Amino acid sequence: MAVERTLSIIKPDATKRNLTGKINAKFEEAGLRIIAQKRIQLTPAQAGVFYEVHKERPFYGELCEFMASGPVVVQVLEGDGAIAKNREVMGATNPADAAPGTIRAEFAESVGENSVHGSDAPETAAAEIAYYFSGLELVG
Ligand code: UDP
Ligand code: MG
Repeated sequence: MAVERTLSIIKPDATKRNLTGKINAKFEEAGLRIIAQKRIQLTPAQAGVFYEVHKERPFYGELCEFMASGPVVVQVLEGDGAIAKNREVMGATNPADAAPGTIRAEFAESVGENSVHGSDAPETAAAEIAYYFSGLELVG
């Protein structure tokens, strides 16, 4: 399987509850390497650009406000099949549907405040990584 990179975000509900280390341990236990990481505070407008694909969805406004409600940790994860592997480790969007042991099953508070973001395809991963990181910040 090809080595891939994917964009991960530890969302404000999780940073507020001091869960960054526990979530990072899940990635590392799954064989994903955190090759870049920084803690930042987004504005609602910056979150809006990032989630533009969802701008027609009813939850868009709330999602942007939530993503700007506290610090987030943006990360690049690298590994074999990293995009799909990260989605597996994250679990389903709605924690009620997330498999036992996944990040969202263990930590998410609701379908909106669900602790983590992960890219869903190679094209979105490349665009999302470039939104938060320069090439110089990626040390594999
Ligand atoms: N979301 C929401 N309500 C919904 C669906 C999604 O608030 O009914 C939020 C949630 O935070 C989710 C994000 O919008 O993680 C992006 O949705 P997507 O369908 O891309 O889910 P993901 O890829 O994060 O699993
Ligand atoms: Mg998504």
